[in-house]
Amino acid sequence: MPTRLLMDAGHTITVLYANSNIAPEAEYERRLQELQKYAALQGFPVIEAPYDPAVWEREVAPIGESLKAYSPAFGKAFSIESNRENPSGANSPCADSEASASAPTTVSELLDDERREQRCRLCYRLRLEEAAAIAAQNGYDGLSTTLAVSPYQFTDVIRQELERACGRAGVQPHFEDYRPYYDEATRISRELHMYRQNYCGCRFSIREGEATRAFIKQQRKLQKAQREAMRAAEDKAAEQRKAQKRAYAEAQAKKRAILKELRAKSGM
Ligand code: SF4
Repeated sequence: MPTRLLMDAGHTITVLYANSNIAPEAEYERRLQELQKYAALQGFPVIEAPYDPAVWEREVAPIGESLKAYSPAFGKAFSIESNRENPSGANSPCADSEASASAPTTVSELLDDERREQRCRLCYRLRLEEAAAIAAQNGYDGLSTTLAVSPYQFTDVIRQELERACGRAGVQPHFEDYRPYYDEATRISRELHMYRQNYCGCRFSIREGEATRAFIKQQRKLQKAQREAMRAAEDKAAEQRKAQKRAYAEAQAKKRAILKELRAKSGM
């Protein structure tokens, strides 16, 4: 979507695939091939940056690991998962009253976690610095990012890191919040039968993706139970109204019968 919007706005674009964050390698290859197919359709070139997961492991993974050390559940997504695995909450640092009081009700809330944000910031930084350096070396005048289309990313952080990386490399940042186009992008990718990944990319996000899907399933179940409870309450209220009507009609009939009997007795 961002590529089409940029081209529609008159930019000549090249897409850089800089994703040392993606694990495993087969997933990295699969997404690259999908991008290359789409690029051939749309008519823009793709450059592949070196795939070096060791750099990502060195620069970003330690914070992901430290979040695990801070809490085995490292984040709301994992607190949901860990509570599911351990419903009693015993021995879970995330099962405190604060965690349950702020239990997320939407996917955005679920993923909006300060600790996860720290990890993603470093990940954006690594890739955007790499992209800005390549852009500067190859004479590109601006840099944008497709990261800004996802409602599940930290958009403000992406903007900060894009501007930071461009400032250092001497390239113009071109930030646009593409999130309003997310649904359209999803629809187009479905129509084109494109591969749609179900996690962001890194090994931590594999589990976050699973936790998110479990959360969505749980929310749907909850909403279904709420709808059924509401329907049952409405049915019960309707039954009560019918019973009241019936009781009233019976009382009236009884009254009429007594009056009739009295009239008959008095000869009226
Ligand atoms: S979730 Fe995505 S942005 Fe965040 S660290 Fe993992 S790959 Fe990077």
